[in-house]
Amino acid sequence: MCKDMSPLEKAIQFHGHICPGLLMGVRAAEIALNYLQFDSDQDEELGAIVESDTCGVDAIQAILGCTFGKGNLYFKDYGKMVYTVFNRQNGRAIRIAQKYDALEHPIMERYRHLKGRELLAPEEEIELEDVLAQVFEWIMSQPTERLFHWREVEMPQLNKARILKSIQCHNCGEGVMQTHAILTEEGLLCPECHLNWRGDNHVRG
Ligand SMILES: [Zn+2]
Ligand SMILES: [Zn+2]
Repeated sequence: MCKDMSPLEKAIQFHGHICPGLLMGVRAAEIALNYLQFDSDQDEELGAIVESDTCGVDAIQAILGCTFGKGNLYFKDYGKMVYTVFNRQNGRAIRIAQKYDALEHPIMERYRHLKGRELLAPEEEIELEDVLAQVFEWIMSQPTERLFHWREVEMPQLNKARILKSIQCHNCGEGVMQTHAILTEEGLLCPECHLNWRGDNHVRG
């Protein structure tokens, strides 16, 4: 990704649209950057645990360089707008949580109302664009304390990305990471074939 882009631009390019969730992720990533004092060239040393799989996580990936592919993005399906970001280089970690009422504002209510509608009249489409512009201004200008709680936490104990050996699934013949293969009466199966195999059994049984 282009080095001259601002964090906000990186996030928008990566995510593909501007929305409140992405902007909140940008604000959370800013806190992490300030707090962990890291230089974006060393993003291999950075890791993030995210507790939702929503728009904000794209900002974390684009700005902090923590991605699934690199193995430094960890997903916990807690349905919470919480990001724990850590720097392996200096051993510091920070937990950033969106405040419960962070997005309570009349402009956000208007935005949710318009977004929640199935069909918008042409004048409402225009209004939505204007409302989104106001949401943008509002989120980006709020003091961070208005939007998030954060505190330093202990370094999470996580395994660094490993190269895993693949084996061949007995049923489909495709490779599957050794850690994911399941031993059955039919031989070693990938999780997908294992699910189908169990499903078939269930029907037969
Ligand atoms: Zn979005
Ligand atoms: Zn298979």
